[in-house]
Amino acid sequence: MGLVIDIPAIAANWKALAAKAPGVRAAAVVKADAYGLGASRVAPALYEAGARDFFVALAAEGRAIRPLLPEDARVFVLSGHMEGEDLAGLIPLLNSPQQFFRDRALRPRGPFGIQLDSGMNRLGFEPGEWAAVRAEALAAGPQLVMSHLACADEPDHPANAQQLAAFRAMTEGVTASRSLAATGGILLGPDYHFDLVRPGIGLYGGEPFAEAQPVVTLSLPVIQTREVKPGESVGYGYSWTAGRPARVATVAAGYADGLARALAREGRLRLWAGGRACPVIGRISMDLITVDVTDLPDVPPALEILNARQGVDDLAALAGTIGYEILTSLGRRYERRWL
Ligand SMILES: *Cc1c(COP(=O)(O)O)cnc(C)c1O
Repeated sequence: MGLVIDIPAIAANWKALAAKAPGVRAAAVVKADAYGLGASRVAPALYEAGARDFFVALAAEGRAIRPLLPEDARVFVLSGHMEGEDLAGLIPLLNSPQQFFRDRALRPRGPFGIQLDSGMNRLGFEPGEWAAVRAEALAAGPQLVMSHLACADEPDHPANAQQLAAFRAMTEGVTASRSLAATGGILLGPDYHFDLVRPGIGLYGGEPFAEAQPVVTLSLPVIQTREVKPGESVGYGYSWTAGRPARVATVAAGYADGLARALAREGRLRLWAGGRACPVIGRISMDLITVDVTDLPDVPPALEILNARQGVDDLAALAGTIGYEILTSLGRRYERRWL
């Protein structure tokens, strides 16, 4: 019952992705609470599996996991050195001249990395800015010089080669460790691997890492079942009407738990009882989902919405989003269990 997170599967996915970049350090991206799956469990487990480099978005996320990891783990902060931030034990990825000078003034001997913009125009030094501080920054000994790909999940997108060329040009002659690839970039091949790769979504069972082991099972407790006569309707807006004598189960989860109303918009969302699929009917409400269980011999105490048959990317397709958003939206109300 509840949200079951398969930690050995996450470790296996990390090892499988690391094996795709042989001879290269494989980090683990654990931002947003390890994509909603619990950074305090995931990060130490990946350390056990061999990861020594961890990436978070915010310093506060880094402070939360730092005490859980041994000394030799490095915790990189992608937002860099924001004003007033406590970065003790963390490694900011400095994104701009302003961040670089702030960081050097406040923590002149503190470890840091550099994030370059190779074309995505989101974070990082632009080529002109980098040219101006490059010599000083490299002399200060960055732990890492990195950039991020915008279109790595589309192998044929011309931006991949363009960003690779831009990153190479900006880091020519750099002896510090270099990193360009997240999950998608690992799959683009060795040209993209440099010295360190930064998988996130692939660890958690999401596309584009098609070989990933599934990581999450989510089962929703059945609160009540009822018989519905032909012509009777179910839920807000009376959007579903029984065409036959039906049995309807109401389960305890809804859009407040990250199960967006859009999941049910085309009537293709299923909940599972063992191997049997039961159609979700009517609208998803804040705390409740209604399911047609007429064809089940018995209604189990809970029905699954995420399992090996219907994964995060299947839900993403139904809702018109990506697996990342499904995972990071998983609600706080589920009882979580870590295998
Ligand atoms: C989120 C993120 C990653 C991980 O990306 P995935 O696609 O989840 O593997 C790596 N690097 C940066 C800079 C990121 O923001």
